[in-house]
Amino acid sequence: MNKKTRYSDREFSSDLLAWYTVHGRQNLPWKQLDSPYHIWISEVMLQQTQVETVIPYYWKFIRKFPDMRSLANAEVDSVLSVWAGLGYYARARNLHRAARIIRDDRDCEFPRDFGQLLSLPGIGRSTAGAIMAFSYNLRYPILDGNVKRVLMRIHAIDGDPGARETQALLWKIADAKTPGDSPGDYNQAIMDLGAMICKRAAPSCLNCPVRNHCQAYQSQAVADYPRKIRRAKRPVRSCRMLLISRPDGDVLLQKRPPHGIWGGLWSLPQMDDPKAGIRRFCAESLELEVATWREMDMLRHHFTHYELLIHPVVCSIDHSGNPTMDEERFLWYNRNLGQDAGIPTAVERIFKNLESTENK
Ligand code: SF4
Repeated sequence: MNKKTRYSDREFSSDLLAWYTVHGRQNLPWKQLDSPYHIWISEVMLQQTQVETVIPYYWKFIRKFPDMRSLANAEVDSVLSVWAGLGYYARARNLHRAARIIRDDRDCEFPRDFGQLLSLPGIGRSTAGAIMAFSYNLRYPILDGNVKRVLMRIHAIDGDPGARETQALLWKIADAKTPGDSPGDYNQAIMDLGAMICKRAAPSCLNCPVRNHCQAYQSQAVADYPRKIRRAKRPVRSCRMLLISRPDGDVLLQKRPPHGIWGGLWSLPQMDDPKAGIRRFCAESLELEVATWREMDMLRHHFTHYELLIHPVVCSIDHSGNPTMDEERFLWYNRNLGQDAGIPTAVERIFKNLESTENK
């Protein structure tokens, strides 16, 4: 920290809460019930995704799994199919695992203890704090991306935002600032401030209710915080994805391994070496004989750590009937039947591209 703030933490929270009462996002769907189950689902969805994107997925999820028991009793495929498109699929798998633990160990009663929450899959310190504060109005700090940015500007912290010591300092500040009364509203208020006013690019400082507390603003150095860290350029990888259709029009999907990219989702058979022979790959890996194949336009998909160049290939197979496959690993998929299958967005894009070329 460059210098001490002139205002107390109490004045900070009080100014922020006054702003939140008038301008805050108090009508978010998961705020209407204050049920720990609904707060938990929303907080996990919000871990790497913005509110506007989350809202339709939240409704879809809650309609399908209205309570803990319905989520715990569902098949993981069904959970992944509702999650498809939201990304970071480990979140959905962890929700499902945690729901089963809560069903089996607690007869579906949601934990009210911070330590018990932290022991569940997919719940870290900030998510557990949010659940405790929003559901039970208990004094627990949170530290999501928005809160980090606000606090780094308020206190002009110039460390690497991802460094362990910066995180430790931010947790200390977040804890000190969280008031004993209305901790739930305070946490929502500081998240809203980060999302609505203290944005990553072009923060609206003149409309900010806590600019008098803000060292970055006072020293006219807002653009310097948080410090921008140069990250290595994302590597680029390539693959082929095979659109293999049966005579009845069903397309072959292959289940991804449970961990890693698109873990547990149904994707197209993938050749990681784009130069390898298609006929040979299909014969050796899928026991299918390809009669003809043609390439479609390449598409790019961005993951956090790399960029994937996907070369889709439409294959016709040499079978008069409909070949069967191991049902654990393969699925003959008909897009028009609304089967419960979590399909990655990139594969949906390939289906749409194929449809539009076929309809031309
Ligand atoms: S004054 Fe500007 S930089 Fe400081 S907290 Fe407010 S919006 Fe963020």
